[in-house]
Amino acid sequence: MATRRLYYDDAYQMEFTARVVHCEVLPPDLSAGITGNVWSLILDRTAFYPTSGGQPHDLGKIEEANVLEVRDGGDEIIHIVDRRASDPDVKCCVNWPRRFDHMQQHTGQHVLSAMFQERFGLPTVSFHLGAEVCTIDLQGPEPSEEFLEGAERAANQIIFEDRGVHVRYGTAEQFARLGVRKVVQREGILRAIEIESADLQPCGGTHVKSTGQIGMILVRNCSKMRQDWRVEFVCGGRAERAARHDFQLLGQVAEKLSCATADVVSAAVRALTERDVHFKNYRALLERLAEAEAALALRSASPGLEGVRLFQRALDEMSPEYLGLLATEIAKAEKSVALLAGKKSGQMLFAQHPSSAKDMNALLKQVFEKIAGKGGGTRDFARGKLADASQVENALALAREKLSGA
Ligand SMILES: [Zn+2]
Repeated sequence: MATRRLYYDDAYQMEFTARVVHCEVLPPDLSAGITGNVWSLILDRTAFYPTSGGQPHDLGKIEEANVLEVRDGGDEIIHIVDRRASDPDVKCCVNWPRRFDHMQQHTGQHVLSAMFQERFGLPTVSFHLGAEVCTIDLQGPEPSEEFLEGAERAANQIIFEDRGVHVRYGTAEQFARLGVRKVVQREGILRAIEIESADLQPCGGTHVKSTGQIGMILVRNCSKMRQDWRVEFVCGGRAERAARHDFQLLGQVAEKLSCATADVVSAAVRALTERDVHFKNYRALLERLAEAEAALALRSASPGLEGVRLFQRALDEMSPEYLGLLATEIAKAEKSVALLAGKKSGQMLFAQHPSSAKDMNALLKQVFEKIAGKGGGTRDFARGKLADASQVENALALAREKLSGA
């Protein structure tokens, strides 16, 4: 027996009584997050909306049982509940805040899609009502910033005019004659939603009774999604929360930048410019420090075997690039080798002047054979990282030994 869908004709009915037609226990479904037994319940009539057409299902109560999910089974609507029905007649209650939110989003979608179509010739090919944001996918060229703003403004104008939203029944031909937005190829009597002088669209969902109840539409984002354009938007209570949240974020940014909210952009540009200048200065100082430290290192390192000056040290790292700068500076001198390591990071850096005629890459590999690490490089410059940073002194000692032995 087909379930009578009360929401078709009255989306505002949140309480109703019904007769249980069928009730059976279902095993737990871990993939759906259902760990205990649940029951599948079919009623002779229902105001619970099942997941369909981009709109999620309702929640609520059937007597003492919680409605966990509502599925569209074609003729029948299946309620998944956490308790069996003990009586043949049940009192039911739809979770209204959730439903009304869905009605705001869904009706807002009709208005927004109609404006994209009418003003900019961009048809909507799909709709998704998510837990946070809603999306529609538009077909056609990329909508410009002006298009997005224009569609949003036109949609909000229709909301401000508080136009009636009516349920219409008719055949596909009748709707086609009335200028339906999306032609459907289906036999029999169809249900469509009309927004006065704005839109007619076949739909089985739940909608508010006049556009004023949508409250407000905010278009949030637009991105490419395969061959289409995905537009994110929020309506009603969600738009209010989104605007409030954005304003709070703006306030937090202004506080961090110590400026008025109206000045955040110029203050951020100033802060970024200063950061770039500081970074350049810092980099120049690091290079000069590396030059100075290299000069000292070379002075203290006395020539060993084959006249090669070997400088070996584990350093406290002031920045990740400093080891590289220092090694490069040392290796600029004839017959020099630098074996450096970062005490904290376990970073290893071996560099030589080509005249030293060693092989830094091979040396690093030899060290990593004994003390675990990863890395590589060329004959003159090799870098890597030890698995265990506490081994840096041992690794350097080993490298020196291998070098002297070679
Ligand atoms: Zn709809």
